[in-house]
Amino acid sequence: MTRPTTIALIKGDGIGVDVTDATTVIVDAAIKKMGGTALTYQPIEAGAGLYQRTGLDIEVSGEERAGDADAILLGAIGLPSVRRPDGTEIAPHLRLRDRYGLYAGVRPVKAYPNAPQRLADPRAAGIDLIILRESTEGLFYSAAVHGRGEIIGDSEARDILRITRTTTEKLHNFAFRLATRRKERGGKGKVTCVDKANVFNSMAFFRKIFDEIAPMYPSIDHDHAYVDAQALNLIRQPWESDVLVMENMFGDILSDLGGGLVGGMGMASCAEIGDDHGLFQPAHGTAPDIMGQDKANPLAAILSGALMLEYLAEKLDDEAYAAAGQTINDAVEKGFSQDRIRPMEFGGDMGTKAVTKEILAQIDVA
Ligand code: ATP
Repeated sequence: MTRPTTIALIKGDGIGVDVTDATTVIVDAAIKKMGGTALTYQPIEAGAGLYQRTGLDIEVSGEERAGDADAILLGAIGLPSVRRPDGTEIAPHLRLRDRYGLYAGVRPVKAYPNAPQRLADPRAAGIDLIILRESTEGLFYSAAVHGRGEIIGDSEARDILRITRTTTEKLHNFAFRLATRRKERGGKGKVTCVDKANVFNSMAFFRKIFDEIAPMYPSIDHDHAYVDAQALNLIRQPWESDVLVMENMFGDILSDLGGGLVGGMGMASCAEIGDDHGLFQPAHGTAPDIMGQDKANPLAAILSGALMLEYLAEKLDDEAYAAAGQTINDAVEKGFSQDRIRPMEFGGDMGTKAVTKEILAQIDVA
């Protein structure tokens, strides 16, 4: 008998629940369509709701079980109304990133036909880039959940921005491998190191390591941009970018900008990949303003599901998963180009369930 493929399923809070429900339906349908081994989901409770009820942010041994699975699929965690005594939100997923060394945060920014274009220039239809956000260190090294910051009485607070050679070498290598794979599929074959090397030692170090790694990939172009100039360029000419590699906090900010460029956060998919583990979740939060109303756009989560299938294909050497991932990407592309996907997020008439149903129909006829 084939070994089951196990997925730790953490739905979380708010719209996290709706969008993960949509994602599992779509992922299962695509795998079935491509004749792959069905996924076995292992639910793990985590988030603000659990914290309110029990004082725990993730169920007992949940972190360990998440690590034992072949991949982790996560919705969204945290509610602004539920906070720890120090004022911070519930964020066990940041510990998962840390614990499993999920250094490579892959955040695609891709324009779809008929989805809103926020830029007037028609070249915006060609936006197709990746924000590669380092996800275990940088300024988030001292995220409150880790307890590494310093609060001095009521007069001062300090956080640490940490850049290590080990993680940065892995990150930059990941960026060049990603650009290589994208080039094979018609991509631009370029990596841009986004930093603030003119001001901070940590950032100069980040760039120095980038410059050491780049020559190992002679078929891929490389350049540098200061983060402030990159923010400008993401508005002026985002179609020129391919893979943008950056520190954690810069990636946090620019990936929201990227989501906005191609519609909204409901399009912002995300993979967080380490040496042995992968976590897949939409880059948006729990969106309490629309939770429980069938208004959330599930596409960010569904496209994250497609990224998970690509990851499983490589990890388990199973082509059917890659084909299933591609089936989902094609269904979204086709649904938009036929104007059959019209999320409420973009002023359309379709809520979470209607969008999911349409993608399902596209997969069936694919
Ligand atoms: P976090 O800090 O956890 O990332 P946040 O409060 O910054 O969360 P989100 O929860 O991502 O932000 O929501 C920001 C805005 O985007 C909200 O107005 C929300 O309604 C909207 N939004 C986010 N995700 C979606 C989605 N999937 N569909 C529709 N609207 C969304």
